[in-house]
Amino acid sequence: MPRKRSGLRGVPTSIDSVLQAALTDRFHLGQILVQKRNDDFVLSHRDDEVCTDLQTFRNAEDAVEIAKYDEAGNYRSLKTAPNLRRGWRLELSTSPELKRALDYFYPGRLAVFAAWKSDKLQTTLLRETLERQSGMYRVAAKISDEQIDSVVGDFCRSDGGCLRTILWKRDQHGTLPSTKLPLKKIDPAYDQIKALGRPGSTTPATATIPLLCQEACNLLVAECRKVVKGE
Ligand code: SF4
Repeated sequence: MPRKRSGLRGVPTSIDSVLQAALTDRFHLGQILVQKRNDDFVLSHRDDEVCTDLQTFRNAEDAVEIAKYDEAGNYRSLKTAPNLRRGWRLELSTSPELKRALDYFYPGRLAVFAAWKSDKLQTTLLRETLERQSGMYRVAAKISDEQIDSVVGDFCRSDGGCLRTILWKRDQHGTLPSTKLPLKKIDPAYDQIKALGRPGSTTPATATIPLLCQEACNLLVAECRKVVKGE
């Protein structure tokens, strides 16, 4: 697999304070709606807010199975892809359980957001990520700028690719990730769900925590390699 390293540095703002700020009533994280009900937390798919025939789960670990496959039963290799299945409701009674469940749904995203909020998040240039690959992925660094425009524009797009907001630049000149992505794709204030053309829930959340991308993921590196290899 492509080599990967942490994008965090220093001590981030705590995840607890991030959740506390967002959770006065309800908030969105990716395709998930989190609602506070008295002392409990209720999680569901954003598109299921008004559904009454949802399957109820009560353990944070149930999020692992819920997030594993899409509606068609295909394995979700990219957890921030906009294909979280519907039909479930997860009821949790403690804040640690809520944190665990959200981390199963979107691994590492709350920690990255907390680091970004406290200005402690380090991003990595795409060219740097590609240059440090080894073995069969080393060839990915030979990708041209034109090919990057196409690969990133297709693979990372919010409407069908990935719901993360891209924070990394392409190279040391500060070049945008792709000329084929809208500028909203790099705006943490923009709710990427809107790119799907279906807002998700009938009542606006009090807050939306963006899913941030601090460096190109292994799957994008693999796509770059494929393009260079002409596969
Ligand atoms: S590089 Fe980032 S935005 Fe692109 S698919 Fe991977 S995780 Fe998503």
